[in-house]
Amino acid sequence: MRWYSMLVTRMRWFLFATAMLTIKYALAAPVINSIEGIRVWPAPENTRIVFDLKSKPEYKYFSLDKPNRLVIDFANTKNNTALAALAKNDPRIKLFRTSSAKAKSSTRLVLELNKSFQLTIFPLAPAGQYGNRLVIDLYDKQRPAKVTSKPKVNLGDIVIGIDAGHGGEDPGSIGAQGTYEKRVTLAIAKKLKKLIDKEKGMKAVLIRTGDYYVDLNRRTSLARKKNVDFLVSIHADAFRTPGPHGSSVWVVTKKRAESELSRWLVNREKKSELLGGGGGVIKNTSDSHLALALADMSKEHSLGVSFGVANNVIAQLKKITKLHKKTPQNGNFAVLKSSDIPSILVETGFISNHREEKNLTWSKHQQALANAIHQGIRNYFMAHPLTGSYFAAIGYKKHKVRSGESLSVLAQRYQISMAKIKAANNLKSNQLRIGQTLKIPRAG
Ligand SMILES: [Zn+2]
Repeated sequence: MRWYSMLVTRMRWFLFATAMLTIKYALAAPVINSIEGIRVWPAPENTRIVFDLKSKPEYKYFSLDKPNRLVIDFANTKNNTALAALAKNDPRIKLFRTSSAKAKSSTRLVLELNKSFQLTIFPLAPAGQYGNRLVIDLYDKQRPAKVTSKPKVNLGDIVIGIDAGHGGEDPGSIGAQGTYEKRVTLAIAKKLKKLIDKEKGMKAVLIRTGDYYVDLNRRTSLARKKNVDFLVSIHADAFRTPGPHGSSVWVVTKKRAESELSRWLVNREKKSELLGGGGGVIKNTSDSHLALALADMSKEHSLGVSFGVANNVIAQLKKITKLHKKTPQNGNFAVLKSSDIPSILVETGFISNHREEKNLTWSKHQQALANAIHQGIRNYFMAHPLTGSYFAAIGYKKHKVRSGESLSVLAQRYQISMAKIKAANNLKSNQLRIGQTLKIPRAG
């Protein structure tokens, strides 16, 4: 009986194996994938190339030198994208072209490169408006000195890091009229930089200078490398309904963010990591965009500065836009525990609100927002100058206006021009209010 039972077992196994092979064969039958789009995002330190695919990519790649090339084989894939103009504006890639692949059903793409690069390749699952993607980052091996060197600052300049939210693959919020948050934030950031650079005693550095994605950890490390004293992150809000509007300013505390909105914000910003993509960052979904500016404020000083600036910025924003929240909002987005740079995050308005979406694309309104943020930051650091800064050197006294005192009376008393008092206090007219506290710059 033993041989018989063994035969049955073998026959069973044979049948099982045949069945499995059939299933495997059925599964392996060429599922035709296709490349439906390719986007190229040059940044100061890297170029990101994003392939849009109909389904999850199966790929292999290798590098060649003399000349430098990157070869990617997409298995069972057709290419439906024109390659000719893709490398036109990129400093690292000379040409995209196809080459004959080993398997007929595959597509072999060749990227002709200017030199050899550090390479990361990773797939991204569908998120937001995007489907399956394959992301390639070409990093410069030696980072350009321009980026890593300290900014040229005069002794005593307060260095303000300006972080325009989102960028590149990550559009941020998208308005009903098609406004991308990433564009609004960069426009305001650039305007703000101009204003700060014009101000004696201050200097601004942009964390992101163009339309490309910078992952969150990189943003704070850039700020640190650039010796940033204060970091302001610029965003535009969105909500699932068009009602909510107005601006808000966020600082981080250890307290839990309790409002529904803040929880929702955090989730939304998590999504932006998925859109923007980033090797290790994707796995760590607790990273959030808000967190970058909202560094861990374990240091009392840092927290105090953040709140101080937040209050000053709110006071200025109030003059030009509705406020969504009248006080600085706390968020528990303590992802960047390593950072002790005081920081705020300004939500400049709601892109999901029709009127505010329009305003946010309007250059004049962007300028007004930049002015408000600039004045808020400046007013704080004039009142609480950093040790050794230019503001500390010039200093000012406080003066509470009493009845009968005019601007010219005060100018005479303190031996300083009316224009200087007006500038220090950001006054539009010569009118003073009784009880108003003025900052009087020190003469000379
Ligand atoms: Zn945002």
